[in-house]
Amino acid sequence: MSNDNDWEKLTTESKVVSVGRPVKKPDGGLNPPIALNSTFHTGGPIGYARSGNETWSALEDAISSLEGGKTLIFSSGMAAIGAILSILPSKAIIVAAKNGYQGTTTLLKNLHDNGKLTVRFVDVANTKEVLAAIPGAKIVHLESPVNPLLDVADLPQLIKFAKDSSCLVSIDNTFATPMNQNPLAMGADICMHSVTKYLSGHSDVLLGSLSTKDSELYSSLEQARKYGGAIAGPFEAWLALRGIRTFAIRMQRSQENALELAKRLANDPRVSKVRYPGLASDPNHELAKSFMKGFGAMISFEPIGTPDQVDLMCDSAKLITNATSLGGVESIWERRRRWATESETIPENLVRFSVGIENVDDLWSDIKSAFDAAKIS
Ligand SMILES: *Cc1c(COP(=O)(O)O)cnc(C)c1O
Repeated sequence: MSNDNDWEKLTTESKVVSVGRPVKKPDGGLNPPIALNSTFHTGGPIGYARSGNETWSALEDAISSLEGGKTLIFSSGMAAIGAILSILPSKAIIVAAKNGYQGTTTLLKNLHDNGKLTVRFVDVANTKEVLAAIPGAKIVHLESPVNPLLDVADLPQLIKFAKDSSCLVSIDNTFATPMNQNPLAMGADICMHSVTKYLSGHSDVLLGSLSTKDSELYSSLEQARKYGGAIAGPFEAWLALRGIRTFAIRMQRSQENALELAKRLANDPRVSKVRYPGLASDPNHELAKSFMKGFGAMISFEPIGTPDQVDLMCDSAKLITNATSLGGVESIWERRRRWATESETIPENLVRFSVGIENVDDLWSDIKSAFDAAKIS
């Protein structure tokens, strides 16, 4: 779009298609170039490619249109989180999810053990526990729904309390996506994404992003990127932008599939437990409904059997891939405890299922065959 503010009136479905395009001119391209330069002619605001890149800007504009504020992209979601942590004073107190994304919890544990930060790990679904941990903290970094248990945090209440306590709030919006909740609009200072997941959507790039409405925070984070050096490759940025064009339609389809499969799994006697915030029977359904527009496309469930049987089940599926990661067009599942770094509070049999855009009946047949192959009964 020619004017930066034109997109504010558009819906998500239209924004993802139209934002981050070059200015219209005769024979100008519809797409930004994959801008490959390490340096630039003098006289401009960028100068050197660790400070800026045309392809990054297009992707940043697209993410800003979805999340609000101004966006910085990074080489990965972890690099984006690393940039936030790098601007905190030494030994600052940070409140974070105990059962969160294991990359984040491992990084935080290491920084805590090295004496660089003081981490208060909390159960994000336990609002009282989170509220009690906030006084004195510099920042609270939360994800919701939380990976891999899919508990939902009471974000409106937690964000308000943290802001009233002069505590910064950063929300990892990777699982919910901007289709379902906008942390900045809810009062958070920073909205973080592993762009690797739903925004890119094709399991072919690693990227991260931070969006903020606070210009001072933006400048600090931009410095952290420039001097920390965790910058994105232009090709990755271009692929992510191409992926974002179909983000809305992919997400709608994946969510519909996820709800249907969660219902079928919940009614299956071979499954002891299903978590999906969109299920009416989920313990967090009412809370999720009170502030989320949709419930995402991640499910977790526990087949009845031994961990070996569950591994065999994951490996026996033909359409669904046994792999880690999430948010791609293809359905992926895995038993989380196969990772040594996964928290021991996660049940041994828990399968994390990233539901893709395939036909839902084909997916269900594949699940049933995988159960049979592993003799889960
Ligand atoms: C994958 C993921 C990350 C880390 O992102 P990378 O792009 O893999 O570095 C952080 N948070 C959540 C919720 C994730 O799923």
